Amino acid sequence: MSQTSLLLERLGALIQQFVREDAARHGLLPIHIQVLHYLKRANRYSDLPIAIAEYFGITRGTVSQTITVLERKGLLTKEPDAQHGKRVHLKLTSAGESVVSGSWCERIEQMLCESAVETAAFESTLRKLLSTMQRANGRRAFGLCRQCAHFLTDKGVTRCGLTHEPLATEQTVRICREWTAATS
Ligand code: SF4
Repeated sequence: MSQTSLLLERLGALIQQFVREDAARHGLLPIHIQVLHYLKRANRYSDLPIAIAEYFGITRGTVSQTITVLERKGLLTKEPDAQHGKRVHLKLTSAGESVVSGSWCERIEQMLCESAVETAAFESTLRKLLSTMQRANGRRAFGLCRQCAHFLTDKGVTRCGLTHEPLATEQTVRICREWTAATS
C-alpha cells in the first residue's frame, strides 16, 4: 500500500503546528493567521468575506467574527468596491503584512529550497491531487491567475476572459475564486 496518505497526514499535522505557533506568537487564533495569509495572496475577485468562507470551508458567521478581530487589532481594513455598492475588499495593513512576514509559509518555502525537491513537478502533482479532492468535495479550486483557462495576454496586456477586465501584473500572480483549469 502507498505511504502517500500517511505522509500527507503528517505534513498536514506539522503545518498546523507551525500555524498554531505563529498564531500564539501574535496572540491570535490559527484561523486569524490563515485568513491573513489568504488575503495576502488573493486577487481582487477573491479578497471578499464570501471567498474566505469558500476557501476555508467555514461559515459566514465565523468569517465575520474573524474579520472583526483582525480589523480591531489593526491587521486589516475594509475598502468599499468602486462598482458594487455593498461589496467590501479586505486589505492587509502594514501591521498585517508584518504578521505574515517570516511565518510558516516562508519557512516551508525555505525548506523546499534547501531540499532536493524538484519544485515544478512537486507542485504539479500536488495540484492534480488537490483538484481531484476539490471536485470530490464540490469545492472551488482557487488557482493562480496566470494558470487559469480565462487568462488572456496580448502584446503584453493581460486581461481576464471571464470578466473582460484588464489585470494588473501584480494581480496575475495571485489566487482567484473564479479560477478554471485550462484544458490541454
Ligand atoms: S483569468 Fe481566471 S484566475 Fe484570473 S481573474 Fe480571470 S477568472 Fe480569475
